[in-house]
Amino acid sequence: MVKKLRGEVQYHPNYEKYVEFIVNHPNYAGLFYERDDNGRVKWVVAGKSPKGQLRQSWWDNQCKIHNIPIQKGCYAKLARLIHPTGIHICQCCGEGRSIFYEYPAKTTVGILNKILGCNIDKDNDEERAQNTIREIIEQWCDSMEKAKAIAAAFGLRTPKDKDDLIELIYSEMVDKESSRFSPGVMCNPPDRFNGFHSYALCCRTKFDTGRHSENMMTYGQDRRAYEDWSDGDYNLANRLMGEFRKQPPMACPVCGNTEKMSADHIGPISLGFCHSRNFAPMCSGCNSSKNNRFTKSDVDELIKIEESGEQVISWHSKAIWDAVKHTIKNDIDAKFASSVMAKCHQNVLNILSIIYKKTGTEFLMRYLHPEYSLVDYRYLLHLENLKIISTPLDSKNKRKNQERYVRIAFDSLEEFSSKKNRKNYFLIDEDSKELDPIIASIALREYDKADKLLRQLIQSVSNSILEKETHERFFGYGEIDSPFSIAAEPE
Ligand SMILES: [Zn+2]
Ligand SMILES: [Zn+2]
Repeated sequence: MVKKLRGEVQYHPNYEKYVEFIVNHPNYAGLFYERDDNGRVKWVVAGKSPKGQLRQSWWDNQCKIHNIPIQKGCYAKLARLIHPTGIHICQCCGEGRSIFYEYPAKTTVGILNKILGCNIDKDNDEERAQNTIREIIEQWCDSMEKAKAIAAAFGLRTPKDKDDLIELIYSEMVDKESSRFSPGVMCNPPDRFNGFHSYALCCRTKFDTGRHSENMMTYGQDRRAYEDWSDGDYNLANRLMGEFRKQPPMACPVCGNTEKMSADHIGPISLGFCHSRNFAPMCSGCNSSKNNRFTKSDVDELIKIEESGEQVISWHSKAIWDAVKHTIKNDIDAKFASSVMAKCHQNVLNILSIIYKKTGTEFLMRYLHPEYSLVDYRYLLHLENLKIISTPLDSKNKRKNQERYVRIAFDSLEEFSSKKNRKNYFLIDEDSKELDPIIASIALREYDKADKLLRQLIQSVSNSILEKETHERFFGYGEIDSPFSIAAEPE
């Protein structure tokens, strides 16, 4: 199954050139390969097959020639030694990545973010693979203080200057394959022709359809949904997004592009919609220019789904969605409603972050659904005619996903005040008396009452935002009356 899926992957033209360069390079003279019906080099052979054995004996012989004793890690060592450029071209994106340990490992990202403020997402391999440690230091390390702090964090001596720090990191860590760094491409000789996987770290999550596929495939993609406290069965949505990637190439409905296609939520989660199974294909370019908005036709679709009995909006954004959804007559209305919903959602997250700060996790856990993790989903393809088979499953992996979901949700509340968008305004702050009855109920563990009060507060905040934005929208046109029915504020 894995092989078949990999076979569907489109090869980037840069990668095809690179493959020809490599198989024709004298450093690999005599190393077995063959071509498929399309004339493409077969990069992978099974190590234990007769063809794999042909490669194996070549690697053993080369180790002898280069005085590398046959032991654990010897082939990877050889692969790095004989690679003619040190840069591997990724099969998926066509970009070059260093074959050496130059990219910060997850824990290292945390250190760099803290000292340099470079804000790399440690759980996103694509971001981790964006810059080598040399590039990060050159770009972000702008004081001796920071250089010293990094050296100290890595257990290196005090550097003389920035260049000295880079030199130290390379001689003491990168060259020694320190676990604080990751190579830009994983090694797997002799199965892979020159020892390296065809896709690099940048695109690993997209193509690693192996055993860990469940939590790898949408790694990073689902993160936003957790950060936004979205409702919806995230486990099912994640799996469906993963399945989506395995579909035969399809064109973007907006621009016709077939590259960098991904699943896009019809109702953007940043506006308070559910992380649900309702998504549409779109290329990354169109997706980012759409910029977390919905269109009139998205709204029609969402209302239709809702009328069929399926939840589309998260609990915290239902009030504002219900207030605006039937007032949207065209794309201009839709754009306005999107921006109102985005503002409301930011206010919701702000309120949740204050409650978290004041009361901890226990009450807020009622809005998270870790139980969704403990189900295994299988599909009968194709996506258009999807049949979903679900079975309860408790495993180490599932537990890990569950923990990650809860951790990301609370981490984002913790960091919310520092991430606040200055363009937005917030109607509630830590000292707002409106919060007092909620906090008091939580303290008494009267959680149902606190829940009711919180929903009322969110509704009242949403109404005020809608009112304010509506007035501003129509002021310029000389109109004062709001076209929206504004619900009465709760007592
Ligand atoms: Zn890539
Ligand atoms: Zn497009």
